[in-house]
Amino acid sequence: MTASAPPTVSAQALSLLGEVWGYDQFRWRQGEIVSQLAAGGNALVLMPTGGGKSLCYQLPSLLRPGVGVVVSPLIALMQDQVDALRQLGVRAAFLNSSLSADGVREVEAALRSGELDLLYVAPERLLMEGTLRLLESVPLALFAIDEAHCVSQWGHDFRPEYQGLGVLAGRFAGVPRIALTATADERTRADILSVLGLQDAPQFTASFDRPNIQYRVGPKDSAKRQLLDFIRAEHSGDAGIVYCLSRRSVEDTAAFLTENGVPALPYHAGLSHPERQRAQERFLREDGLVVVATVAFGMGIDKPDVRFVAHLDLPKSMEGYYQETGRAGRDGEASTAWMVYGLGDVVNLRRMLSDSPAPEWVKRIEGAKLDALLSYCESAGCRREGILGYFGEEYQGPCGNCDNCISPPQVRELTREAQMALSAAVRTGNRYGAAHLTDVLLGKDTDKVRQAGHHTLPTFGVGAQHDERTWRGILRQMVSLGYLAAGEHYGLSATPKSRELLQGETPFLLREEVLRPTSNRRAKGKASAPADLPAAAQPAFEALRQWRGEQAREQGVPAYIILDNKTLAAIAALRPGSLATLSTVSGVGAKKLEQYGQAVLDVLGEVD
Ligand code: ADP
Ligand code: ZN
Repeated sequence: MTASAPPTVSAQALSLLGEVWGYDQFRWRQGEIVSQLAAGGNALVLMPTGGGKSLCYQLPSLLRPGVGVVVSPLIALMQDQVDALRQLGVRAAFLNSSLSADGVREVEAALRSGELDLLYVAPERLLMEGTLRLLESVPLALFAIDEAHCVSQWGHDFRPEYQGLGVLAGRFAGVPRIALTATADERTRADILSVLGLQDAPQFTASFDRPNIQYRVGPKDSAKRQLLDFIRAEHSGDAGIVYCLSRRSVEDTAAFLTENGVPALPYHAGLSHPERQRAQERFLREDGLVVVATVAFGMGIDKPDVRFVAHLDLPKSMEGYYQETGRAGRDGEASTAWMVYGLGDVVNLRRMLSDSPAPEWVKRIEGAKLDALLSYCESAGCRREGILGYFGEEYQGPCGNCDNCISPPQVRELTREAQMALSAAVRTGNRYGAAHLTDVLLGKDTDKVRQAGHHTLPTFGVGAQHDERTWRGILRQMVSLGYLAAGEHYGLSATPKSRELLQGETPFLLREEVLRPTSNRRAKGKASAPADLPAAAQPAFEALRQWRGEQAREQGVPAYIILDNKTLAAIAALRPGSLATLSTVSGVGAKKLEQYGQAVLDVLGEVD
C-alpha cells in the first residue's frame, strides 16, 4: 500500500476504536464483523454476555453515513445505553413508550436533521407505520436487532413484536442488518435467520465459555447462613444477585442479609411496578448492593460489575442456570456463580414435574432439561466442561476455575448402599418419603416405623454404619439421577432405571459433600478490585472510585458509565502524571479525556 492510498475500512475502524472508546484492539472477531457491516453486508452474531456485542453495531454506525437503528426489547436499559454513548461523545437517542409526546417530537426532529449517530427503538415503536415512514425518509447506516432470540417461540423470551421485524428486509432492502444474541441453540438460530431474512448472511459464533466465572455447586445445610458466610468471606461490599424460588424466601433472605450487614433489596412479582423499578434503578446505580430476586429479575440487567450470582433454589434447566449465572462478570473480572441445593429441592422439582397438568410431550422435554441440570449438580467432573458440553461445545477440562477442578472431590463407591436404599423403598411399598426411608435404613424405632411394622423388615437398620447426612446425600443423588422417582406426598419409588443398580451394571458414585470456598482472596469490607490490581495501587483505586461515585450521583448515571472498574484499575496502577499518558489507558477515549482527565489527575495527585 502506498502512502497516498485511502485508509482501509479496518484502518478507519481501528482509529475510531481508539479515539472514541479508547481501546487499542478489537476483541475476538469484532473487527471482521465491523468490516462486514461497514461494507454494507449483513451478519448474525452469537456471542456470550459480556463478549462485546454492542461495539459490533455501534462502530459501523459511526463509519457509515446515516443513523444506526438499534432494536431492543429492553426499554428500561435504553436510557443507560444512550447515556453511556453520550459519555463517549456519540450522538444517541431512544424512542420508546417512556417518552412524552414532546420527547418523541424532539428525537424525531433530531433524526430528520441528521443529528443522530445511533437511535435505540423498542420493536413495537419501530413497527408503527409512522416510524417506518420516518425511517424511510432519512439515511440509515444499519439495523441492529439486539436480543434477536426474542423472535423465536422456542426461546424463553419470545416477543411477538419481534416477528414483525421481518418487514425490515423488504422495506429497507439496501440497509445492512445485524442480529445479535447470547442464546445459540440450533432452533433459535434457524428462527432468527428465517424471520429476519438473514439466510445468506455470514455467522459469527463465539465460544460461550465465560472463563472469569467460577462455578460452584454444593449441598444445602442452612441456606441463608451459608450464603452470608460466602458473601462475607469472598464478596463483601460487592454487587450480587441472589435467586430464590418463592416471594417468601426472597423477602426472608433480603431481610436476613440486611440485618447482618449486607445491604440487600427484595425483587419479585408481588411488588408494585414502581417498587420494582426503584429496586432495579438502585441496583444499577449504587455500588455494592445485593438484590434477592425471583427469576423475574434479570432480563435487561446490564450491570457489568455484578460480582456474584447465588442460587438458593435450583433453576429448572441448564438454560436457565447459564442465563442467570451469566449476569455475573460482564466486565470480564473474576466473579462467582454459587449454588446450594438439597434433597428437598430435588424431590420438590421432580414432584412438581410429575404433578404438572402439562401435556406428556411437554413434560418429557422439561423432564430431560431437569435431568441435565441435576446431573450437572451431582457431577464430580469439570463444571465448565459439563456446561459447554450441554450447549454442544467441545471443551476439555480441567478448567482450573470451578469447584471440582480447584479441589477434586473425593468420590466414594456406594453401590451397595444404593441397593439398600432401593430395597427400603420397594419393601415399604414405594410410597414413603426420604425421612422415613432414612429412619428405616438407620434402624430408628420411631412411632411411624412401628405403626407401619417396618421394624420387622430385613432392611431395617442395614445402613446403620452411615450417618443421616450420608443417607440424605445418597437419596438426593438417587433422585437426581433418576433411580428413585418422587411422587405423591413426596413418596419415593424405585424406577425402571434402578435395575441397572440392582444388577450391578452401573456403579453408584457419591461425591464428597463440601461446598469449598476458594482461598480467602481479600480483606473483609473491601469491595473487590480487579484481581490483578497490585496492592500498592489500592489507595489510588479507592480514591478514584470515590470520585467516580460523586460524579455518577451528580449526573444521575450509573458509575461504570463514567469509567469502568477495569479502566479505573489500570489508571490506579499506572498513575499517569499527564493527560498524554492518561490517554494511553484502555477505556480512556478522547471525550472522556477531555471531560474527566484533569479531575482524574487531581485525584491521583492527592493520594500518597
Ligand atoms: P455484550 O453486549 O456482548 O454483553 P458489551 O458490548 O456490553 O457486551 O461489552 C462488554 C464489555 O466489554 C464492556 O465493558 C465493553 O466496554 C468491553 N469491550 C467491548 N469491546 C472491547 C474491546 N475491543 N476492547 C476492550 N474492551 C471492550
Ligand atoms: Zn473445571
